[in-house]
This record gives sequence, C-alpha cells and structure tokens, in this order.
Amino acid sequence: MAVTVETHASLAEAARALGMDGTYLGGGTVLMRGVNAGGVQGRIVRATDPGLRMISAAGDGLRIGAGATMADILASREAEFLHPVARMIGGPQVRAMATVGGNLFAPHPYGDFAVALIASGARAELVQGGVRPVEELVRERGGVGARPPLVAAIELPRPREARAFGFLKVSRVKPKGVSVLSLAAWLPREGGRIRGTRVAWGAMGPHPLRGAGAERVLEGQALDAATIARAAQAAAEGLEPPTDALASTWYRREVAGVHLKRLLERMA
Ligand SMILES: Cc1cc2nc3c(=O)[nH]c(=O)nc-3n(C[C@H](O)[C@H](O)[C@H](O)COP(=O)(O)OP(=O)(O)OC[C@H]3O[C@@H](n4cnc5c(N)ncnc54)[C@H](O)[C@@H]3O)c2cc1C
Repeated sequence: MAVTVETHASLAEAARALGMDGTYLGGGTVLMRGVNAGGVQGRIVRATDPGLRMISAAGDGLRIGAGATMADILASREAEFLHPVARMIGGPQVRAMATVGGNLFAPHPYGDFAVALIASGARAELVQGGVRPVEELVRERGGVGARPPLVAAIELPRPREARAFGFLKVSRVKPKGVSVLSLAAWLPREGGRIRGTRVAWGAMGPHPLRGAGAERVLEGQALDAATIARAAQAAAEGLEPPTDALASTWYRREVAGVHLKRLLERMA
C-alpha cells in the first residue's frame, strides 16, 4: 500500500483529517522507522501549527505544546527543571525532531520524558476535548502506528524547590544510549516531610509506570538514610520489567533499588 503524507496548518484540521485510518506524525523519529520497515502504511497526517511548540509558564504551572521537541525544552528557561531529562534523549539530531507528544507513545525502551511527566503528575489536553492524566494515556497506548487520542499540550506543575524533582537514566552507551531503566521522583516537602510522593519508572514494565512500593515507603517521611534504605528495598515491588537486548528482567529488578537510592540521596 502507498504511503501519503498530508500537512495541515492546525492540529484541529489534522485531527479531522485523521479520520479512522490516518496516523499522526510528530517528529517522526519512531514512526518513520515503522514506515521504512513497512509496518506503517496508508495516510500519515501532520500539523505545522507553530503553537504546537509553545512552552509557557503561569504561576507554578507549565504548559508544553505536544509538538515541542527535546531541543525546544532545552532552549526554554521555564522548563529548566526538565533539562536533565531532555538532554538524556538520543543525540542532537534526535533531540531536534523528537517531540514531547511522540514520547508518550514511543514503545519500550523509549519514553524517558513520559517518565518525568508521570512523576510530576502531568495531564494531557486532548484535541478532541478533555484533559487526562499522562499516566493513564501511556498505560493505554498501543504499538507503533496505533492511533492514540491526539494530544495538543501537556500541563504540569513546576517544582517549588530544586530538590523536589529528580531524574536519573541508566544506559549502557553514554551519553545517548537507550534506557536500561529510567526513574523520576517528585518529592515536595512540608515541615521536613514528603507530602504527595510520586515515583515513576521507565523500561521497568510494558510502559512508563508509577513505583507503588517506593511511594508507599516515602510518603509522610523525612528523606533520611533510614527512609532511603527502606524505599530502595521496596523499589521493585509490583514491577515486571521486560527482558530485552539491554538487560534481563532479573537484572532490572536487582538494580532498581541501587538506582533509586542514588536518586533519593541526590534529592535529600
Ligand atoms: C537513535 C534514536 C535514539 C532514541 N533515543 C531515545 C531515548 O534516549 N529516550 C527516549 O525516550 N526515546 C528515544 N528515542 C525515541 C524517540 O525519538 C522519542 O521517544 C521521541 O520523543 C518520539 O517522538 P516523535 O515526535 O519522533 O514521535 P513520532 O515518531 O512522530 O510518533 C510516535 C508515536 O506517537 C504518536 N504521536 C506523536 N505525536 C502525537 C500527539 N501529539 N498526540 C498523539 N499521538 C502522537 C504517533 O502517531 C506515533 O504513534 C530514540 C529514537 C531514535 C531513532
């Protein structure tokens, strides 16, 4: 079957043009591989609306257009707390094309940016209307060429203090290899205790997901050595990481606690 690409000036027009059989193209770093391999065929739809790449801050919140690239994130002062995340995604060519929207639906072991968004409690504005937690959208995603709801933008809070947000990625090839695992934590403190703990993992399941074991241990506690040790012990609870060419299920479970401990010590 032939592949056709349709370009629209706005995301709303692109959404209408998608119909039942179109596939939306973000930066194409994942999708075009599918096209080249023959797995994605038919109509591909894209939008050139410059608003899709806008990043803006209002009060404690941040709004990131779904078409913002990792390079756009790195150029944004408002999104500074996300620079360590964007910097760890691919090399410069990939970062110039890879979008925030596409990262939500990129298959394992990708999705490092989605890990950071899930940890921060981000929500996705859908073109069809409504807002949904990123965590939910990512859980429901299909494979390359699947047709998830079209995301217009992401809304998330900005951390009030630098140590409230942390991100760590483990890869075999440095600095730009794909993830053995990635990990983000959102640990706001009130009176010295963590209130509203969120921990998210990448490459530790079929999609980026919350770390319930670590969250249970950390909530309401001071981030001291004893709490960090208990969180590290609970790190892999409920996680079923896949085995792939980078690491086995056993290895990923074994090292989860070590890396969680390193991240938490940085955030203490
Ligand atoms: C060499 C290389 C290295 C890479 N390294 C990393 C890495 O280190 N970490 C990492 O996380 N990823 C990595 N990736 C994967 C990829 O580049 C990123 O995940 C990127 O963010 C995907 O975004 P994209 O815009 O290119 O997605 P696309 O390829 O355009 O799309 C991917 C999927 O998302 C859907 N989609 C895109 N935008 C939207 C939207 N707004 N709403 C709904 N659906 C949408 C598409 O329909 C498609 O199903 C790498 C890729 C390559 C080729």
